[in-house]
Amino acid sequence: MPMADESVHESCAVFGIHGHDEAANLTYLGLYALQHRGQESSGIVASDGERVHSEIGMGHVADIFDEERLSKLGGHMAIGHNRYSTAGQSGITNAQPFLIDHSRGILALGHNGNLVNAARLRRELEEKGSIFRSTTDSEVILHLIARSSEEDTEHAIADALNHLEGAFTLTMMTRDLLIGVRDPHGFRPLVLGKIANNRGEPAWVMASETCALDLIEAEFEREILPGEMLIVDENGPRSIFPFPPSQPKQCIFEFIYFARPDSHIFGDDVYSVRRELGVQLARENPVDADMVIPVPDSGLAVATGYAAESGLPMEMGLVRNHYVGRTFIEPQNAIRNFGVKVKLNPMRSFLEGKRVVVVDDSIVRGTTSLKIVDMIRQAGAIKVHMRISSPPITSPCYYGIDMPTHDELIASSNSIEEIRAHLLTDSLAYLSLEGLMKCVAPREGDFCTSCFNGIYPVPVEFKDAQLPLFRELRTSEHRA
Ligand code: AMP
Repeated sequence: MPMADESVHESCAVFGIHGHDEAANLTYLGLYALQHRGQESSGIVASDGERVHSEIGMGHVADIFDEERLSKLGGHMAIGHNRYSTAGQSGITNAQPFLIDHSRGILALGHNGNLVNAARLRRELEEKGSIFRSTTDSEVILHLIARSSEEDTEHAIADALNHLEGAFTLTMMTRDLLIGVRDPHGFRPLVLGKIANNRGEPAWVMASETCALDLIEAEFEREILPGEMLIVDENGPRSIFPFPPSQPKQCIFEFIYFARPDSHIFGDDVYSVRRELGVQLARENPVDADMVIPVPDSGLAVATGYAAESGLPMEMGLVRNHYVGRTFIEPQNAIRNFGVKVKLNPMRSFLEGKRVVVVDDSIVRGTTSLKIVDMIRQAGAIKVHMRISSPPITSPCYYGIDMPTHDELIASSNSIEEIRAHLLTDSLAYLSLEGLMKCVAPREGDFCTSCFNGIYPVPVEFKDAQLPLFRELRTSEHRA
């Protein structure tokens, strides 16, 4: 078994704002709304056009920032970043946004996504004398910008970006510019919003998802396009497209699991897509049962669609405790399914003697699902069917979703029947890839589905079995 710290991941949230006197406070709120995209560390860098200040910490947004810390972050511009919680060790040196002072001045950067050629770029840069402070792929971007022979920052950034391969949604800030970038395939989302400042003038906001705009009452303008670099200065936003044209390959798993259901990304409302996945799942895989039970929160939207299409009632057979911390002290007398039980409690009075369809969005390792099924049986259900609103995850994500390697993905080496036997369900069915794509048609070709079919739109310079350079980088990161 590979160690957990060998998994490939860098799911994060980015945020940026230009032209608002409360830039840091609004960034704090934006990061708060985007907490689901990363819980390991958070940071804000703010500027008043002269001074630049950075506050970064480990943990959740609300725990890191208090009034005192926010009051240090003066100015009309800010960027913020949430980093995803991962297995293994992590350190403050890897927390973002990064802030450097180079020959062209101050530059801050927040990155969401994974670069697939980072290890090679890093080695080349180190051979030329670059000294790295962190062990993240993101720092490579700063070194490339610093070394570019282009004169002004804007062109140096565009030049540097053309060396990158993989997934990168970025927010960057110089002393006076806010810059947002989506890689040519647009793997990760980035949206643009507008909010009036204290003088009634427009301030511009960039965020991973629209739920961040909603909280600060910014108006959704549009999505930043795959391959677009949006530059905001005192005259407002303007765009350049620094990359050769590419086919968009937006991450389908953002729709399935990662994004918040109340966000609008990739041209759709996430909740509508998830509900539609449930409808399609019910059409493909009906089952004779008494009720639909969503796995909260990941299966809620899907179960709504499944129940509507199947005509079965949907009941809260599992109730979630929303205040679960990361670690628990387990009593010495081991409690069955403890890890899941602290989070989910089955409702015996509803489940007893019932035939239930448990609906969730995905199965990764199968460990949580196994415990959920057992818990529901223990609570008295007589039949437990499971329906999953995505195809089996057979291949790891190299573009920024936190997923384990092949060896740990239950569907990479087991058939659906084998998984059913492992989970001890009466039946198990997944949504087909065709059915999934129907729900995002007519833009089917614009999505990356590599986790379901192993077709990687950007060739990866490593495979998990080959002890890649990338892995060395990652492993040292977690041990840092
Ligand atoms: P398991 O049965 O252990 O594979 O866990 C399945 C649960 O993990 C489902 O409820 C999914 O919503 C959830 N899940 C899917 N992708 C991820 C991810 N990248 N990180 C954490 N949980 C996930």
